[in-house]
Amino acid sequence: MASADAHDLHRRVGEWYRANARDLRDPYAILVSEFMLQQTQASRAAPAFEAFLRTFPTLQALADAEPGAVIRAWAGMGYNQRAVRLHRLARTVAREHGGELPRSVDELRRLPGVGPYTAAAVACFAFGANVPVADTNIYRVLSRVLYGVDAPSRAVVDRRVAELTPDTDSPSTPQEWHQGLMDLGASVCAAAKPRCMLCPLREVCLAADALQDGARLALAEASIPYAPKQGRYEGSTRYYRGKTACLQARRFPWRRCGSG
Ligand code: SF4
Repeated sequence: MASADAHDLHRRVGEWYRANARDLRDPYAILVSEFMLQQTQASRAAPAFEAFLRTFPTLQALADAEPGAVIRAWAGMGYNQRAVRLHRLARTVAREHGGELPRSVDELRRLPGVGPYTAAAVACFAFGANVPVADTNIYRVLSRVLYGVDAPSRAVVDRRVAELTPDTDSPSTPQEWHQGLMDLGASVCAAAKPRCMLCPLREVCLAADALQDGARLALAEASIPYAPKQGRYEGSTRYYRGKTACLQARRFPWRRCGSG
């Protein structure tokens, strides 16, 4: 098993992401999705997310709403404090930033309800900022690739994630790298049955040999050749973000909407 260098990892994940990804860059929709995903599973959040964006299609619409209406639109999500903070955030952005979400992690961190992960995710996914994103799927993929089946502590892997953030010479952008790893974790490198045979990292992954049985089982269960856009897509984070793309396409028909 050949070990991977950063350039090789960036190339593999970047190529895979560009071949499989949909474009989704609406900062407001990404912000709402990240708030909902803070404490709720994607499968449960998806219907509420669609309803929320139908009720408040823009950050300004959310800022103009009454608090009671925002909490009602949050129904089914629980942890209503997130809705209160999101509403407060919208009003702050409308008042202090002309209705445009700030782009930097530092400015995002100063907004109500925005912690380090949400700030990094919005800066990276909405604005392409070069910041590491510490996500569970990213942790699982990179811990398997770099350390095999005996995963070290989360802190050790998170440090490696930070070191591996692409630079300007890398063959993937920070957004492609982080989103690609998240999508790989959601659709290919599953926790229980990773599909190593379909993974762009299998030749450099230290866990691939040990997890091949799971990969074979997953393939045997599939009646058709696996395609990332159709496999275990539903309910994944990518499915959830894909829903966002479709909503955007409905509101702005000139934007493309993929399946899902
Ligand atoms: S080769 Fe298998 S274990 Fe390694 S990252 Fe890919 S899916 Fe995960």
